[in-house]
Amino acid sequence: MIEKLHAKPDIYRIEVTLPHNPLQYLNSYVIKGKTRNLVIDTGFNLPICRSDLCGGLQALQVDLRRTDLFLTHLHAAHTGLVHLFSQAGCPIYMQGDDYDFLAAAESGEVWRNAEVRFMREGMPATDIQTQFSNYARAYSPRVDFRVHRVHHGQRLRLADEEWYVIHTPGHTKGQCCLYLPQQEILFTSDHILFDITPNIQIWSNMSNALEEYLKSLQALRDLPVAAALPGHRKGRASIKERIQELRRHHGQRLEEVMRLIRLYPGSTAFDIAGQMAWSMRGLSWSAFPPTQKWFALGEALAHIEYLVQHGEIRKIKDSRQYRYE
Ligand SMILES: [Zn+2]
Repeated sequence: MIEKLHAKPDIYRIEVTLPHNPLQYLNSYVIKGKTRNLVIDTGFNLPICRSDLCGGLQALQVDLRRTDLFLTHLHAAHTGLVHLFSQAGCPIYMQGDDYDFLAAAESGEVWRNAEVRFMREGMPATDIQTQFSNYARAYSPRVDFRVHRVHHGQRLRLADEEWYVIHTPGHTKGQCCLYLPQQEILFTSDHILFDITPNIQIWSNMSNALEEYLKSLQALRDLPVAAALPGHRKGRASIKERIQELRRHHGQRLEEVMRLIRLYPGSTAFDIAGQMAWSMRGLSWSAFPPTQKWFALGEALAHIEYLVQHGEIRKIKDSRQYRYE
């Protein structure tokens, strides 16, 4: 499905299906300029995503020989099909921390470290084993492409327009938004989503991802925005209210974690995640697909890490597991 969102510059949205995934679809944006085009994000490295993306690019008559690709962050739903562009010789733009992380993850070491950490946080070994097919791992691209590394405040001339890169660490360390100042259009990627809450995880390259995320949200508060175009689901005409909602959401989450740790001192993060409220189509924690348990535990840990660093709770390390009180 293709939707025209804006004229001058001509902005289109290609809906790329993300099968068996609560995100439902990725918005790949195409900006058609007079001399060059810009594509923002790609979809998973999966045949159905390739068919959606290539079908959309073909229908829009996008000539890859005159196209740049911007990858907003490392997640497989955004980068999976990068090789379609690198093989065509398209210049690719991405923030350096996310590119380096993606390259490091290819060796498997990042995943092995995460598995050890999650086991210490109480996740059962049987659940960990199911993560080998985790889509973040299975549908990622091979990192055999090179990028132009972008940084906060950088001005880019792409698709015959002037763009600003806004680095918004939190969802990932290298998460970037793209801004068209004249038209006040903000491509929010997964930093601000409207129908769903962006997933905030723990990361080996960020010691307090939630804190970084909240700061990055606050930094966009006064940005003039007439249209916000997110990485998944529908956009909105403004971001102000949504920033407030997201800040409130994480405030409530922090309170929920505090309450649970007061009720059950000495719990593991996995125990706490199992007690938290999740909107998973009414499924109970035990019926959660293991991949969703992985993301839920990561999200619980992002809040726990924040509380530990703010001195609200204490992390106790016994020989096998971490517990919190
Ligand atoms: Zn993401």
